[in-house]
Amino acid sequence: MLILRNCKFINFLTEDIDFETGDIIIEGDTIKEITKPNVFHDEHYQEIDVQGKTVMPGIIDMHVHLSFVRPTQAEILILDGPSFAFDCLKYAQHLLNIGVTTARDVGDDKSFPTVALRNAVDEGIVKGPRVIASGSTLCPHEPGVDIMENLLEYVTGPMEMRRLVRQNFQKGADFIKLYGSGSMMAFESEPGVRILEEDEIKEAVKIASLRGSHVAMHAHGTEAIDVGVKAGVRTIEHASFISDDTLKYLEGKTDQGIVPTLAILQDLIYSNDYAEFENARDKVNQLKKQVQASLSNAANYDVLIGWGTDVSYDSYKKNPCSEFKMRKEFLGYENKEILKQATINSAKLLMLDDKIGTVKANKQADLIIVDGDPVEDISVMYDIPSHVIKSGEWIR
Ligand SMILES: [Zn+2]
Repeated sequence: MLILRNCKFINFLTEDIDFETGDIIIEGDTIKEITKPNVFHDEHYQEIDVQGKTVMPGIIDMHVHLSFVRPTQAEILILDGPSFAFDCLKYAQHLLNIGVTTARDVGDDKSFPTVALRNAVDEGIVKGPRVIASGSTLCPHEPGVDIMENLLEYVTGPMEMRRLVRQNFQKGADFIKLYGSGSMMAFESEPGVRILEEDEIKEAVKIASLRGSHVAMHAHGTEAIDVGVKAGVRTIEHASFISDDTLKYLEGKTDQGIVPTLAILQDLIYSNDYAEFENARDKVNQLKKQVQASLSNAANYDVLIGWGTDVSYDSYKKNPCSEFKMRKEFLGYENKEILKQATINSAKLLMLDDKIGTVKANKQADLIIVDGDPVEDISVMYDIPSHVIKSGEWIR
């Protein structure tokens, strides 16, 4: 039981209150009440004075791969399942420490370490963010994707898709990840090209929706994005070359959206890391103006834009906040929109907005405390938060 005193609130991320500063009363894992300053007193509660800092919902990263911890693909490809689980734990705990209180893993090793991690977090065996796991990525045969073979189940045709979707759920997946267009990272693959058929995507959507679950689909190319959206994919990952027509189609929808991943783009454009992906760097540098134009344009429409990063553990450690920086400086998004993308928009896309994504009584106490006003100055988010609370637990 915890009282956070002297909090500053962000009005569009704090629901059902009409005051700007106050206290948050936390009971167990839940926000019990948000009050005006010094209204609530109970000696059984621990009190922390946050000294006027901004308290906002924890960050939701909808596009991570928790098994991307070893520095080279060669090491990743030979790792065994139990070791993978510890790698995922290391990555997940880093995320939690820097304020990511929910992580959706979009492509797990075939040994399903992320599912094991999710269960261990839920059971309180280990500390970590809320984890949402996809299991294996379902992908057609495609030149070059062998470099991430440990993440993939190859699929040909709707019936096989049906079986593999069910298999992922049987092994504990929360949702389904499809690979719907060529890849930036794979040498022989063209990101602009659609690689899944409409009937295959529809089959995955149909089986996932029976369970009230959703489908996320990797898609860079305009046509792949459009076919995916119309087949009922809930989140288009990357969405690099999304067109005006698709944006118009998505406008006003509350059950579909896009998850751009700018942090990986920043790595490939500006850093010398990922030496083994030299080819990807060339590809991204050629395409970056197009990606910039398409994704900047997305903000002109009333479309749900979620939060994703897609980087390795080392990169997330080195540049923990580059997604904020890129969305501001590379795409020119408004501060308010960026803050919503990282929180409530992502919660909506995950169908978890009744539990997370804003600060509200009866929601989970997943909170970060930042020094400054990120609505006025988004560079407040270029540093990791001062403090992190997850499910009511003071993490640091
Ligand atoms: Zn990815």
